[in-house]
Amino acid sequence: SEPLIEVKNLKKYFPIRGGVLQRTIGYVKAVDGVSFTINKGETLSLVGESGCGKSTVGRTIIRLYDKTDGDVLFKGIPIHSLKKSELRKLRPKMQMVFQDPFSSLNPRLRIGDAVGEALLDHGLVSKNELRDRVIEALEMCGLASYHIDRYPHEFSGGQRQRIGIARALILDPEFIVLDEPVSSLDVSIQAQIINLLMDLQQQKGLTYLFISHDLSVVEHISTRVAVMYLGNIVEMASRDELFDHPLHPYTQALLSAVPIPDPDLKRERIILEGDIPSPANPPKGCKFHTRCPFAKDICKEQVPEFRDVGGGHYVACHLV
Ligand code: SF4
Ligand code: MG
Repeated sequence: SEPLIEVKNLKKYFPIRGGVLQRTIGYVKAVDGVSFTINKGETLSLVGESGCGKSTVGRTIIRLYDKTDGDVLFKGIPIHSLKKSELRKLRPKMQMVFQDPFSSLNPRLRIGDAVGEALLDHGLVSKNELRDRVIEALEMCGLASYHIDRYPHEFSGGQRQRIGIARALILDPEFIVLDEPVSSLDVSIQAQIINLLMDLQQQKGLTYLFISHDLSVVEHISTRVAVMYLGNIVEMASRDELFDHPLHPYTQALLSAVPIPDPDLKRERIILEGDIPSPANPPKGCKFHTRCPFAKDICKEQVPEFRDVGGGHYVACHLV
């Protein structure tokens, strides 16, 4: 299938300021050269511990953040080269759903207005049609039409996330970045929201970037999975390949912490020593060497190449 999104050596550095003059004294290298494509209709998941840069990737590829370097193509269009007015035209096609939609909902705005706001802003609907479009979007997300006149505080966490999804969906997007969309919800509610997202993807042919630290959720929803560590992707493969044959020691460690339902199947738990180093001052060579149980001398000096080891399974490790 064809790529909808192409990311080429993308970098996003945030300046660190210090001293009385608040000069730039360094950079947090949140995203330090990542490349991947997302094909039309698939879900690519981005996993890793908090602070690894996955949310920054999500925001930069739909240009909520400007890039530091590299390229992002949406249907072949380099979105970071677009003028503001051109980007605005494209904006409805690239949407984002956040972990906590409540904090992005104005408490004094009725749900109908919150969901319809962007549609009206973009001039995509007349005032007369707005109510019908809002009801349609709410119903697609499993919320009855009578909710339209209620306020955010009247909804449960799961319902609020449905509202967040309706707000994105009403714009008829092609691509949605889902940033930890179920992480703040109870497990039973998580499954409902994941199923909703998968149904909507089927119906609308949506393409997702799914950002999560929860591998059991990722195993359920993904077509492919990319694992991030300190601003880089260290492994990327199809969902089944990654879960059945993880090659990178970091992926193996993450997976070893996921409980397996079948008691006959035992994975050896790999405990990682130490904390994640600061992305302002990452280790030389393989950035994972300070915590890797298999690190060799070469790992401290040379950056391992991110390469295809067969069938679209990419890994960056000297030992593979
Ligand atoms: Fe571990 Fe070396 Fe592989 Fe990095 S390159 S993951 S330090 S073995
Ligand atoms: Mg995050």
